[in-house]
Amino acid sequence: MTDTLDAAARQLDSFRHEVKAWLEANAKRRRHDTSEFKARVAATSQSRESEFEHVEKCKAWQRKIYDAGFAGIAVPVEYGGRGGSATEQRVFQQEAARYEIDTGVFSVGLAMVVPTLLACGTEEQKRKHLPAMLRGDHIWCQLFSEPGAGSDLAGLTTRAERDGDSWVVNGQKVWNSFAHVSDWGIMLARTDWDVPKHRGITYFLVDMRSPGIEVRPLRQITGVAHFNETFLTDVHIPTENVLGEVNGGWGVTQTTLMAERVLIGGGMGLGFRDFLELARHYGRTDDADVRQGLAASYTRSELLRWLGERARAAMKAGRPMGPESSVAKLAISQHVFENGNLALAIEGADAMLYEDDAFEHGFWQQQFLGQWGIRIGGGTEQVQRNILGERMLGLPPEARPDKTEPFREIPKNA
Ligand SMILES: Cc1cc2nc3c(=O)[nH]c(=O)nc-3n(C[C@H](O)[C@H](O)[C@H](O)COP(=O)(O)OP(=O)(O)OC[C@H]3O[C@@H](n4cnc5c(N)ncnc54)[C@H](O)[C@@H]3O)c2cc1C
Repeated sequence: MTDTLDAAARQLDSFRHEVKAWLEANAKRRRHDTSEFKARVAATSQSRESEFEHVEKCKAWQRKIYDAGFAGIAVPVEYGGRGGSATEQRVFQQEAARYEIDTGVFSVGLAMVVPTLLACGTEEQKRKHLPAMLRGDHIWCQLFSEPGAGSDLAGLTTRAERDGDSWVVNGQKVWNSFAHVSDWGIMLARTDWDVPKHRGITYFLVDMRSPGIEVRPLRQITGVAHFNETFLTDVHIPTENVLGEVNGGWGVTQTTLMAERVLIGGGMGLGFRDFLELARHYGRTDDADVRQGLAASYTRSELLRWLGERARAAMKAGRPMGPESSVAKLAISQHVFENGNLALAIEGADAMLYEDDAFEHGFWQQQFLGQWGIRIGGGTEQVQRNILGERMLGLPPEARPDKTEPFREIPKNA
C-alpha cells in the first residue's frame, strides 16, 4: 500500500517537473509585483480592440498547450485529451498560475461544457466537439438565462418545436458571457408545456453561426461588454444536437451548473500578497483597521484554499460533489465583497479616481466593481443560501406550487 502511494507521489512529482520545465520554456513568468497582470486586466476592461486581442491570445495559448499534450489533462485520449488525472490537471493549473497567460474565453467550454459532454454526451458528440474545444478552435458560451428566468432558471420560456430532422427555436437569452466571440453554445429550451416546469426542458448544442441568431453586447458596470443578450428567431438545430434526452434537459443542466459553481468558487487572480503590497504602497500597514482587514482577508483566502482541498478530496474518493459547490460559491462571493471594500479603504480618497488616473490604471476599482459579476453569476448568494438551507441543513423548503403544475398553467409576466 505504502509502495503504491510512494509510486503515485513520485509520478505526480515527475509530472510537476515536466510541467514546470515546459512552462518555463514556453510562457512568460508573471513578475512578482503583478503590475503587468494588473495593467492587462485594466486594459482588457477598457476597449473592444484589447478584448479581441485577448481572444486571439487565448486561442494561441490553448493551441500551444494542445500541441504540447497539456490540454484536457483529465480528458480521455480518444477525445483529444491527455488521459491523465484530475490531480494532474490541478498541478498544471497551479504551475500555470505563475505565468502571464490568457485563458478567459475558454472558461465556459473547458470548465463547464467538457464535464457535461463527458457525462451526458453521445459518442459522436464527444468526438465531434471535445477535440475542437481542446485545440482552441471553438469558443463556447452558455445560453441559459432569460429576462424572466435567472434564479428561477426552470421557468424559461424559449421554445423549441420539432420540425422533421430539426428543432426550431424562438426566444431570448441574456447575460451570455463571450457569446459575441463564440462558435458554439449550450442552450436550454422548453419542449413540453404540458408538464411541470422541470420536466419539459431540453438541452441543445447550438452552432452560433446558425441563421436567426443575433447577439447584442451589453456593457457592464466595469465598462467591459463581456456578456450579451442573444435573440433566437426560427433557429434550426439538428436533432443530433440534443444533449441527453428530449425533455430530460434539467438533469443535464445540473452537471453544468455544478461545474459552473466550482469554476467560480475555484478562486480569483489575486492573493493576499497583492493587498499587502497595496497597503505598503499607501503606507498604511500601521493602520489598525487596515491591519485587521488584511488579517481577515488572509484568513478567508486560507479557508477558501482548504475548502477547495476538501472538495477535491471528496471527488478523489469518488464522493459526488453536492452542496459543497454552493459553499465554495458563497465563500468566494463573500471574499470578493470584503476584498473590494478593503482595497478601496486602503486607497482612501484615491479610490475615487478611475482608469489611468488611478493607481495601477484603475485595477483596484475594476476589482471592486467586478465583485457583483462574481456574486450574481452562476447563482446569487441568496439562491446558494436557499440550496444550503434546504439540502444541507434540512430546513423546510420554500413553498413552490409551480413545481407540480403543468408549466402552461403557471401565471407568467407578459
Ligand atoms: C458576470 C455574469 C456572467 C453571467 N454569464 C452568464 C452566461 O454566460 N450564461 C447565462 O445563461 N447566464 C449568465 N449569467 C446570468 C446569471 O446566471 C443570472 O444573473 C443569475 O442566475 C441571477 O439571475 P437574474 O439576474 O435573472 O436575477 P433574478 O433571478 O431576477 O434575481 C433578482 C434578485 O432576487 C433574488 N432572488 C431570486 N429568487 C430568489 C429566491 N428564491 N430566494 C431568495 N432570493 C431570490 C436574487 O438573489 C437577486 O438578488 C451571468 C451573470 C453575471 C452577473
